[in-house]
Amino acid sequence: MAETRSTCPYCGVGCGVVIQTEGTRIISVRGDPDHPANFGRLCTKGSTLHLTAAEPLARQTRLLHPALRPARGAAPALLGWDAALEHAAGRFADTIARHGPDAVGFYVSGQLLTEDYYVFNKLAKGLVGTNNIDTNSRLCMSSAVAGYKATLGADAPPACYDDVRQAGCLFFAGSNAAWAHPVLFRRIEEARAANPAMKVIVADPRRTDTAGIADLFLPLQPGSDVMLFHGLLHIMLWEGWTDTGYIERHTSGFAELKALVREATPERVAEVCGLRAQDLFQAAQWFATGGSNDPQRRAATLSLYCQGLNQSSNGTAKNAALINLHLATGQIGRPGAGPFSLTGQPNAMGGREVGGLANLLSAHRDLANPAHRAEVAALWGVESVPERPGKTAVEMFQAAADGEIKALWIACTNPAQSMPDQALVRRALERAEFVVVQEAFATTATVPYADLLLPATTWGEKIGTVTNSERRISRVRPAVPPPGEARHDWQIAVQFAHRLEARLRPGRASLFHYATHDAAAGAEAIWNEHRESTRGRDLDITGLSWALLDAQGPQQWPCPADPASGGKVDGNATALLPAGRRDLGKARLYEDGVFPTPDGRARFSALPWRPVAEPRESRYPFSLTTGRLRDQWHGMSRTGQLGRLFGHVAEPSLQMHPQDMERRQLQAGDLVHVTSKRGSIVVPIQPDGTLALSQVFMAMHWGGEYLGGRSSTGERLAGVNALTTSAYCPSSKQPELKHAAVKVLKA
Ligand code: SF4
Repeated sequence: MAETRSTCPYCGVGCGVVIQTEGTRIISVRGDPDHPANFGRLCTKGSTLHLTAAEPLARQTRLLHPALRPARGAAPALLGWDAALEHAAGRFADTIARHGPDAVGFYVSGQLLTEDYYVFNKLAKGLVGTNNIDTNSRLCMSSAVAGYKATLGADAPPACYDDVRQAGCLFFAGSNAAWAHPVLFRRIEEARAANPAMKVIVADPRRTDTAGIADLFLPLQPGSDVMLFHGLLHIMLWEGWTDTGYIERHTSGFAELKALVREATPERVAEVCGLRAQDLFQAAQWFATGGSNDPQRRAATLSLYCQGLNQSSNGTAKNAALINLHLATGQIGRPGAGPFSLTGQPNAMGGREVGGLANLLSAHRDLANPAHRAEVAALWGVESVPERPGKTAVEMFQAAADGEIKALWIACTNPAQSMPDQALVRRALERAEFVVVQEAFATTATVPYADLLLPATTWGEKIGTVTNSERRISRVRPAVPPPGEARHDWQIAVQFAHRLEARLRPGRASLFHYATHDAAAGAEAIWNEHRESTRGRDLDITGLSWALLDAQGPQQWPCPADPASGGKVDGNATALLPAGRRDLGKARLYEDGVFPTPDGRARFSALPWRPVAEPRESRYPFSLTTGRLRDQWHGMSRTGQLGRLFGHVAEPSLQMHPQDMERRQLQAGDLVHVTSKRGSIVVPIQPDGTLALSQVFMAMHWGGEYLGGRSSTGERLAGVNALTTSAYCPSSKQPELKHAAVKVLKA
């Protein structure tokens, strides 16, 4: 039996795993006791990973060979890799020649490894000459990115997991970490047990399992978060709980924010948010003082937040308004304090690092900045990086539906289930002239829309790196060879790029000189190029190498080669590391009060509260919120294979408050039509006392025809995203997956 250290492919906690194999079979998995994200723990999903890779189940669900559909609706016919990649390169080159580079788009994934992401970004922006590359991280983290950049100056979560242990107050906002980040939540429960004086505040429309440990639960109305945060600041100012010294020394823009929150009186906030004024006072005091009831004694407050803030048409304002509270109270840059966004996907962070979004460039550079474009062009050896902004996720599918984008390359993601407003997405996939789906699984809802199917590797087979929520880079190592003809995502992208180069820049040296025949050498060469792109940037990792990650274990960024420029042995998070291992990067940022802005000061953001894009009204009287279940992951292409993971929740249902059900004469298990302005699904209804009146909840995981969905014009649709809206935040372009107005009628 052999053992291989790798990481869990599910959530942003980024737990380390030890994979046990016999020959070419994965036979078990356990938590890596030496990994600083989990120290041996795994949740239900992580601990059953080996079963999702077991034969014959795995082989039945995998894409194993390239295949080309001769016509839409026809069965795909197998073909060799050479022919498949030649065909793809020909179609893309032809589209670019006839319609220009912006007629193609790449839609990739926070499930990709950093190396995969890096190559796709270079392929689109460096070779094709389009910024039309976006990712499902747009649905997950782009509001957090925009919020950090607007206030702190860089997309860098300033805290670390160890801060949970050092906090006096934990403030959860829009995060059900108990289900979405279970191993981190165990750490939180332990920290609380060790410090009974710790205060936990949870702000969430639903009384989730996370709210179950709250000292103070704030069941706010969906979308009212900005008003809540402004209201807390109003109280802090009134009561003298802000840190005026910190504001003066380390921030700018407070006067404008102060004027804005003047209107956010406790009475107004209580009315808009549906909360009690006395709870607002208590929350403000605990936040400012780190859980102390004595304003003179200040401990640390750590905010933990996730999709409840991000998946919103007001997402950037929500993120920024919460960060405002940390700046106004000096709750940042010290142990146990800071605004800590929890990443949903395992490598949303890595994607952000390599600039794999339509508005970003490598190493946290901005597409809109001419100097940054020139730097990246020089790094890649191309004349220029295009200036035109690329299409973000919703815009990309809208452009395909409008006939503007004609060729789509979709890698490692399932937009025909996960994107909002499925009627739009399906119009896009049908209208696009050429759709490539690069996937590990044959079972996703997007596969039937592919003209060309390219089989990719997945967990247990892949090689590269990922970055978790606390900026920690971990090695991903292959335990078994790829099944069938599956190839690594970066290999496919590079081999396609080579063929496209022959057509777009014949006779010139390749931009993609990575060894595709040697996966380890090729992936490391890509990572080294990415590492070089970070030199001198806020996420500088020039002090790291794959050899060092192997010897010292996963490391946080920044970790520059030159310690004088900010890298150091931090030591704060080393308590549980095995003997001989050290943390080399920075556990927490901004301890010196200097921020990566032009004047070194953090900036307060004075963005006003705006209501949800689609408020409930008489024809659509319910607020639909969506979210995760504890034991399922995304569209269930992996977790849906295991019967035991349905032990927690067996089937999809719409959750509704018992009084609302009674008023509508609905019984548990009745089938109901749930209808929004965009579509309708049929689903059983179940009572749920954790919800407020006039709110309903449905998990995001189920798709397929199981739900019998229809668009408003009668097309068959799948899953809860038949109902959700593609309205998005004007800054982050992240859509409001967390709220839609619906009506519910007995079927
Ligand atoms: Fe995997 Fe997240 Fe569970 Fe850890 S907490 S085992 S990363 S799903």
